[in-house]
Amino acid sequence: MTDANCIFCKIIAGQIPSRKVYEDDEIFAFHDINPWAPVHFLIIPKLHIPSMAHVTPEHEGLLGRMMLLAPKLAVQEGAKPYPEGGFRIVANTGAEGGQEVHHMHWHVMGGPRPWLRG
Ligand code: ADP
Repeated sequence: MTDANCIFCKIIAGQIPSRKVYEDDEIFAFHDINPWAPVHFLIIPKLHIPSMAHVTPEHEGLLGRMMLLAPKLAVQEGAKPYPEGGFRIVANTGAEGGQEVHHMHWHVMGGPRPWLRG
């Protein structure tokens, strides 16, 4: 299921260009256009799930596969491995969570600090 008005659905379809990091049948990852960190990409499901508040048990496998990709892709994209390097995953959810694009996505950020508070 896709949403014709969704910018991330358009990126998955190739209608809007992106710097792709990874793709398979159900998952897409690409560099954030406005990076907050030396390594900053987004992992998204191809399925148009609006936010983390919309996930259900039927998404359990998909969420697990997305999570398993994060450490591999972080190193692939230049973050040093754990423990010297590492990364941060952020999933802004809803207005008060700072979500602006309503297609569920996980920010994966890493690289030499400082680049983010906390
Ligand atoms: P925020 O904009 O507050 O980070 P989100 O968590 O919804 O809110 O994140 C949306 C992210 O999508 C932003 O980091 C933004 O830079 C990124 N983004 C928006 N449009 C594009 C695009 N065309 N290509 C790559 N990244 C994009």
